[in-house]
Amino acid sequence: MVNRTVKTVVTIGPASESYSTIKKMVMEGVRIFRLNLSHSDLRWHKEIIDKIKSVEKVTKEKIVIILDLPGPKLRIGKLDGDKLEIKQGKIYTLGLNGDIPISREILNTLSIKENIKLSDGKLELKPIKRDKDCISAKAMNSYTLLSEQSINQNGLRYPSKYPTKNDVNAIKFGLKNNLNTFALSFISSADDVKKMRKIAGEDSVLISKIERKEGVDNFKEIVDASDIVMIARGDLGLNMDISNVPKLQEKFINEAHQLRKPVIVATQVLESMVSSSIPTRAEADDVFTAVEEGTDALMLSEETAIGAYPLKAVKTLTHLIDTFKTEVMRKAVYIIRSEDDALADVAVKLAESTNIRNMMIVTADGASAFRLSRYFDSDIRLFALTPRVDTFKKLMFGRSIEPFLYRDLNSGIEDVKKYLRNKFKTRKSILVSGVFGKAGSTTKIEIVDL
Ligand code: PGA
Ligand code: MN
Repeated sequence: MVNRTVKTVVTIGPASESYSTIKKMVMEGVRIFRLNLSHSDLRWHKEIIDKIKSVEKVTKEKIVIILDLPGPKLRIGKLDGDKLEIKQGKIYTLGLNGDIPISREILNTLSIKENIKLSDGKLELKPIKRDKDCISAKAMNSYTLLSEQSINQNGLRYPSKYPTKNDVNAIKFGLKNNLNTFALSFISSADDVKKMRKIAGEDSVLISKIERKEGVDNFKEIVDASDIVMIARGDLGLNMDISNVPKLQEKFINEAHQLRKPVIVATQVLESMVSSSIPTRAEADDVFTAVEEGTDALMLSEETAIGAYPLKAVKTLTHLIDTFKTEVMRKAVYIIRSEDDALADVAVKLAESTNIRNMMIVTADGASAFRLSRYFDSDIRLFALTPRVDTFKKLMFGRSIEPFLYRDLNSGIEDVKKYLRNKFKTRKSILVSGVFGKAGSTTKIEIVDL
């Protein structure tokens, strides 16, 4: 089976919106799609959701759709004629009535000590002075600026409150369409995550995107309150000096794993494939590093949303992951910090020393499966059974985890064995379990003869 270890998240956009492209991606092993609600209207998103759902029916593969909420991203206002030719070395004003219109809120938030980065950093302005109603800044390069393009700055503090009106509408749209996996853009605190869960429902799956200073500062409490973490390197690398990003990526993967939450490494993974049919060697190296650091998933954004080679990008990423997994995963040695960690370690050692290639874990909230996957060896298949739909969705993101929704765990272990025997036609397996349906109760490791 393809892509069983590190999972691939694919962003759907105009370049990949057709039923046949989506289906081909599923055939390549993709099980997680992202819809970016910052772009396109809800009608378009609804059409894509319907297409993905019919692919799900036809292929009989379970698929998770992430609705990525816009969040309080900062943008410039409308430009005259919707564009402005910026000339390197010239001075421009940013303000309510400036050459580049921005709100009072944004004006007060920007510092004049750091360069202002517009349009995802493709235009840099060096602030010179602040007046009452504007900041004057010198263009560091020439650029055609368009209306409503993004604003970032190192150390930027976001003024607007969470959630925005658009976010609430997007959640309502999701729930109406039976979707409750949401990515929270520019999240800044655990309280904000909790607020979102109130709106989205207790059984929602919330992915916190770490992409601003407050997100970095409050990382642990945010992760604790969320289900999944995304290291959103795009905005993160624009809201701080880019040299900080690699070490933060490594640190965050580690810290999230200690909290037993899966991690997605996102943005510019195979960026050059937006216009080239092969990736750069540096991109291959970046994928290797993320796999080695232990990421659970890697995400494609523009590569598949607007790129010229969406399917090739998926195949390239899957190929890289498949090649790296055996080289890298055996190297990963996780520190044992608790009795539960020790138990997971023993389960994997048992598999290695007995040559049993199947491991089954029964899990209520997923935590024990995520713990086990850290110690994992790529030759062993890790099947996770859960009676809970929300846990099933979370497990889809976990490295090496093959989740199964198994609603009827009432009659206990004999039921599970029967299910496994029918499903996999295997005989011997290592079964890791606890009290069925009860989170945090994993205590048993046994060799079961199905
Ligand atoms: P975006 O988030 O693609 O929604 O901006 C990812 C990132 O910022 O890296
Ligand atoms: Mn972002």
